[in-house]
Amino acid sequence: MSDITLQDLSDALANDEFVYYYQPKVSMLSGKICGAEALIRWLRADGTLVSPAAFIPFAETTGFIKEITLAMFQKLIVDLNIINDAKDSIVVSFNASAKDFHDNKLVDAIRYAIQHKQLDADLLEVELTETVFLNDGKHVRQNLELLEQMGVALAMDDYGTGFSSIDTLARWPFSTIKLDQGIISKLEDSMKEFTIAQSSIHMAHQLELGVVAEGIESEHMYKLLQNMGCMLAQGYWISRPVALAEFLDFCRTRTIWPVQPIGLLHLAQLDHIQWRKAIIDGVFYLGLRKDSNEIRGAPESDPQTCRLGRWFYGAGREYSGTKWYDEFEQQHIHLHDVGMKLLESAKQGASKSTQTSLMRELTEKSVIVIGMLQQLENRLIAEHS
Ligand code: C2E
Ligand code: MG
Ligand code: MG
Repeated sequence: MSDITLQDLSDALANDEFVYYYQPKVSMLSGKICGAEALIRWLRADGTLVSPAAFIPFAETTGFIKEITLAMFQKLIVDLNIINDAKDSIVVSFNASAKDFHDNKLVDAIRYAIQHKQLDADLLEVELTETVFLNDGKHVRQNLELLEQMGVALAMDDYGTGFSSIDTLARWPFSTIKLDQGIISKLEDSMKEFTIAQSSIHMAHQLELGVVAEGIESEHMYKLLQNMGCMLAQGYWISRPVALAEFLDFCRTRTIWPVQPIGLLHLAQLDHIQWRKAIIDGVFYLGLRKDSNEIRGAPESDPQTCRLGRWFYGAGREYSGTKWYDEFEQQHIHLHDVGMKLLESAKQGASKSTQTSLMRELTEKSVIVIGMLQQLENRLIAEHS
């Protein structure tokens, strides 16, 4: 398709030859399909199917992509309603290019659809690659902020391939990152890629962003990512992108993919260690800055809303009703009491011996909490192996 012309694209659009294929995303927590990515295909009159790599870059350079995206968005609305009528609501994402945000047309079309109840903002996500941000300034930012205000989620596609992923993440309103296939495919053979994936998942967790691993081609890869605490999976091992009717059939099979909560349990342990570190840092800081009572990055005081608490009262509910659950809850609440007492004592400038004794108590409680999390981990490993 190297001799593709603008006229070809324009004819294809006029003849309604562009369609979306859908590739499911699976929640590694529930093992169920919880989303899908819409990927464009050019279905030519002679029955051949042209992949986006063959025409999207050309459409982007010529600017014709804007016409394509606008037309495809109208199709997406129809498809989304069919999908959500047939299945419990799932989030569907579509890919957009930098040029789609150079003017307001796409954002206006999305706003119109939401306001006229043609689609639910909560069920829509836009995938963008970093090139969008590297080359474009104010206008793109305004448009993406408008999307965020409308409640439409933004995912950073191909995370880990750009020059400034971290900087981009810090400055733009993303709610999800999609770990690039290039990293995923080398996980099994390269310690470097393994570490990049692992630390990206940790970072996303700290920033409270979702993580999708794309390009999962084997069960082993799926399980590896699950162990790292990744929550969403997409790839040929689950399903290739397929036409709408086939996607609906696929959803109907109600397959359940493996669920294994150990990755999240590891993240919960890390959360606890970070929380404890934030307390100790706070005590040192207050000791140094006698003139200030405020600490930056103050640890969460409420055991229900700290990160460990969110795991415990969220995914951790799975273990409620057990002796372990009730005991852990008590220990965790005590831990927070001690942590807050310690910070307060530092703020009040309490004596060294009072602070040291509270710090010792904090360590003791922390050891109990970590011990209990590891006890659960051992049980889960025994159950899942
Ligand atoms: P992407 O958004 O990163 O999409 C993921 C690509 O990886 C898709 O290729 C998908 O079919 C492929 N893929 C998924 N799972 C696996 C796997 O397990 N192994 C391997 N090897 N590949 C897997 P596809 O559909 O050919 O799309 C290629 C790219 O074209 C997309 O990358 C996206 O950047 C772009 N694209 C697709 N549809 C659209 C669109 O509607 N608009 C725009 N602007 N770009 C699009
Ligand atoms: Mg994508
Ligand atoms: Mg991608």
